[in-house]
Amino acid sequence: MNAPTSAQTIFLDQLMGELGPVSVLAAADADLVRHGHVPDPTQAVDRTPLAVAYPRSTADVSTILRLCHQHHIAVTPQGGLTGMVGGAIPGAGGLILSLERMREIEEVDVAAATMTVQAGVPLQAVQERAEACDLFFPLDLGARGSCMIGGNIATNAGGNRVLRYGMMRELVLGLEVVLADGTIVTSLNKMLKNNAGYDWKHLFIGSEGTLGITTRAVLRLYPKPRTTNVALCGLATFDDVLAFLKEARSMLGGDLSAFEVMWKEFYEVAVQIADGPPPLEAGYPFYVLIEALGSDEQDDGARFERLLERFITSKVVKDAVVAQSAREVEGLWAIRDSSGELDRVFGEAVNFDVSIPTGNIAAFADDCRSRLREALGGGEALVFGHIADSNLHLSCKGPDGIARSGLIDATVYAAVRDWGGSISAEHGIGVGKRDYLPYSRTPSEIDLMWKIKHSLDPTGILNPGKVLPAQRSSDS
Ligand SMILES: Cc1cc2nc3c(=O)[nH]c(=O)nc-3n(C[C@H](O)[C@H](O)[C@H](O)COP(=O)(O)OP(=O)(O)OC[C@H]3O[C@@H](n4cnc5c(N)ncnc54)[C@H](O)[C@@H]3O)c2cc1C
Repeated sequence: MNAPTSAQTIFLDQLMGELGPVSVLAAADADLVRHGHVPDPTQAVDRTPLAVAYPRSTADVSTILRLCHQHHIAVTPQGGLTGMVGGAIPGAGGLILSLERMREIEEVDVAAATMTVQAGVPLQAVQERAEACDLFFPLDLGARGSCMIGGNIATNAGGNRVLRYGMMRELVLGLEVVLADGTIVTSLNKMLKNNAGYDWKHLFIGSEGTLGITTRAVLRLYPKPRTTNVALCGLATFDDVLAFLKEARSMLGGDLSAFEVMWKEFYEVAVQIADGPPPLEAGYPFYVLIEALGSDEQDDGARFERLLERFITSKVVKDAVVAQSAREVEGLWAIRDSSGELDRVFGEAVNFDVSIPTGNIAAFADDCRSRLREALGGGEALVFGHIADSNLHLSCKGPDGIARSGLIDATVYAAVRDWGGSISAEHGIGVGKRDYLPYSRTPSEIDLMWKIKHSLDPTGILNPGKVLPAQRSSDS
C-alpha cells in the first residue's frame, strides 16, 4: 500500500479533526477486506482505498462530502455489501463511507402507515419492527439480514413480492439525501399524494450511490396479511404457465403475491440443496411456486384451492402440493430460495439477472442456451425467475467451468439485446454490467444520464466508475 500523498494527508487530518478519530479509520487501521477491498499484489497499480468513514448522522455525512468535494476525493457509499454488481467496491485512493453506524429506527407512524429510518438499518430490522406494530413491510430478499435500507434504495431492490407491492421505489415515500458538495436535501414526506413539483427522490432511488448519499427515508407500510396460501405446481409447457398466471391474476386479484417459475434443471438441483424429500417428483418441464397473501380467513384458502382444482381438472397443472402449515410454506419457499446456494451442487457458474417481456421468456431461454452451447462448445444453464415481473435469472457454466465468463457475459447480454430485454432487472449496473449498458439504453438515454450526473456531481466524486464510466469518453 502506497503512503498517502501530502494532499491526502491534509484531507484525512481535516476529516478526523471534524468528525473525531473514532469515526475515521485510515487504510492501515481499517479492515479493508470487510469493506470489499480485494488486495492483489500482482497488480502493478495500487488499488488500496484511502480510509473508511463511519458517520453517525446526516450532519456527519454532510461534513464528509463537503471535504471530499473540496479535496477531490472519491467516495464509495456502502451498506451491507450484499449488492451483486460490484457497486460498493471501493476505488483506489478513495474514501469508503460506511452507513453501518446509522441504524436508528426513528418512528413508526401507525396512522400514516410509515416508518422513518436511518439508511444503515438492516432490512430485517424494518420487517420485524413493522410486524411488532401489526403492520407489514413487504420488501423481502435473501440478503434481508445483512442488506441495509440505504442499499435497498440505492439499488431499487426487487425480490419476491414485486408483483403485488412493487419494487423499493414504490415503498419509499420520503427521502433525505446529501449531495456531492455536502448540501442536505430533506423531504421526509409521509403522504401518498404529493405532486408539489418534481418528485426528485426518484432520481436517487436506483442510482447506486452515484448521485447522492441517502441518509434517511420514510418507508411505506401495509396491513399485515392474515392468510398465506402457497402451492408448488408442475406444468408441461410455458403456454400453460402463462395461462395459469393469467387466471391466477384474475381469480386472486391483488392477493397474488408471488409467481415464481423454475425450469426443470433448476428444480432438480434445488431439491438436492433444500432439506427433506422433494415436494413434487422431478421431470415436469416447469415448476410454479404460487403465493397469495390475503385478509379473509374464511374464504382465502377456499378461493386458492378453487384456482388449483380448476387447473388440475383441465390438466394444465399436472400435479400440485399445497402447504398446510407455516413450516410447509417455508419448505416450499426453500426450494426457490436455494438459488443462493446453487454452486454447492451445480458448481461455480456465472449468474444473470435480466428482464424479458413475459410472453417471450421461454423462447429467450431456449435461444440463450443454444447460443451458449454454440459459443462455448457445450455447457449448461439453470433458469428460474419472477416471471410475472418479466424477471429471469440464469446460472450458466461452460464445459470447463467459468474460465470463459467474459464469453458467457457477451453471449447472454447479446441475446438479451436481441430480444429487446433489459440487462438488469433488479440488481443494478455497478461495474459488472457497465460495459453492456448500451445494449438496453439508447445513446440519448445515456446522454441524459451523463447530464444528470454532471449536474448533481460536477467533480465526479460520487462512486466514480459505477453505472457510467469514471469519465465520459468525450470529456477525456
Ligand atoms: C443472497 C442474496 C439475495 C439477493 N436477492 C435479491 C433479490 O431478490 N432482489 C434484489 O433486487 N436484489 C437482491 N440481492 C442484491 C441486492 O441488491 C442487495 O442485497 C441489496 O439491495 C443491497 O443492499 P446493501 O445494503 O447490501 O448495499 P451495498 O451492497 O452495500 O451497496 C449497493 C449499492 O448501493 C450503494 N449504496 C449503499 N448504501 C447507500 C446509501 N446510503 N446511499 C447511496 N448509495 C448507497 C453502494 O455504493 C452500491 O452501489 C440479493 C443479494 C444477496 C446476497
